[in-house]
Amino acid sequence: MKFDVVTLFPDMIKNYCSESIVKRGIEKGVIEVSTTNPRDFTHDKHKKVDDTPYGGSQGMVLMCQPMFDAVESIERIDNSELIMLTPQGEPFSHKISKELASFDQLILICGHYEGFDERIRLGLKPREISIGDYVLTGGELPALVLIDSISRNISGFLGKDESALDDSFSEGLLEHAQYTKPREFRGMKVPEVLLSGNHAEIEKFRANERLERTKARRPDLII
Ligand code: SAM
Repeated sequence: MKFDVVTLFPDMIKNYCSESIVKRGIEKGVIEVSTTNPRDFTHDKHKKVDDTPYGGSQGMVLMCQPMFDAVESIERIDNSELIMLTPQGEPFSHKISKELASFDQLILICGHYEGFDERIRLGLKPREISIGDYVLTGGELPALVLIDSISRNISGFLGKDESALDDSFSEGLLEHAQYTKPREFRGMKVPEVLLSGNHAEIEKFRANERLERTKARRPDLII
């Protein structure tokens, strides 16, 4: 999977991707992350990428030309999808994450300031994705949320110790509670059954936990 991130702040993407499991995914060659900066496609000496909104109002709006040229400079491969990060897009979810993991290239367009000139959306016709009903300063964190989550659904990205199979949402339910050493901490004990070595009983206990936790916390997930 090749992630191409169109961003005015490439270091935000590079810094995150130089740590932990994402870094390892890149080193293993399972994913590749590149950035393209619209500021490198401006034609004026001030490298201007934004301007005041027509009709008046607060803030600055990203201009068409640097954004179109930046996106169109990226080499598209066959199985590729163009995505715009916007709070007005379809809500991101585990289902969409899995669906997007089947592409070979995702081009992620990050906004900033007051957002995009509407003609960027109309002209480039991206799929629009939101990471939640709140507004962030820029699309870099949302792009990283997509990169991180989608990568977890790509075979070979996670080592077997970090398997995503039991994770919340993968089977429609929340994950069961997890415990590690010691057996007792501040009077709180690990449930006996997890120490029993009886795998059938442990799986029965965990299956019940997944159901009860989901009923209590996210009844909307149970159809
Ligand atoms: N004025 C825009 C609005 O009200 O819809 C919000 C602009 S926001 C300050 C700047 C940029 O951050 C957006 O263009 C988008 O790329 C990104 N962004 C902010 N919140 C987001 C969210 N919840 N999901 C995805 N992208 C978001």
